[in-house]
Amino acid sequence: MLIADKKVGSFHYTLSNEQGEQIESSRERQPMTYLHGSRNIIPGLEKALAGKAAGDQFQVTIPPEEAYGERRTDQVQRIPAKHFRDAKHLKPGRMVSIQTRRGPVQATVVKVGRFNVDVDTNHPLAGQTLTFDVEVTGVRDATAEEISHGHVHGPGGVNH
Ligand code: ZN
Repeated sequence: MLIADKKVGSFHYTLSNEQGEQIESSRERQPMTYLHGSRNIIPGLEKALAGKAAGDQFQVTIPPEEAYGERRTDQVQRIPAKHFRDAKHLKPGRMVSIQTRRGPVQATVVKVGRFNVDVDTNHPLAGQTLTFDVEVTGVRDATAEEISHGHVHGPGGVNH
C-alpha cells in the first residue's frame, strides 16, 4: 500500500538543520503518525512521503516556505513582566507559552527587562532549511471518522 490522500502514514525521522546538527529524532519514541492530505505535517515532508511504502527510506531537504515559513521580524512582542508568573527567572532563549487572540502560542524569550519581556512568536524552526532522514514504518487506510476529523485516532494520534 502506498501513501496517498486518506491513508494514515507512520514514519521515523531524524531532523537536521543546514549546519548538519541534529535537532530532533523520533527514534526514542513512537513513530510519527499522520493523515495524508490533511496538513497534519509540514507541506514539504507530506509531498516527499506521497507514493512511499512501508520500509522505504529516504532523505529530503525542505526550504522554509515548505517547512515552518520564513522568519518574520514583526513577530517580536513586548509583554508586561507582571503577565508572567516568574518573569525574573526568565532568560533569553527560554520557551514560554503566551496567550493570544488565537489561543496559547509558544514563544521564545528574546530579552528580559525590569518591566517588560520581549518574546518572539516565530516558530523556532522558521527561516530554516530542514533535512529529514525518513523511514516509513506503516501505511493503512484511514477510517471514515479520521477522514471527517482530519487527523489520526488511536496510537500515535488523537484520543477522544
Ligand atoms: Zn478526531
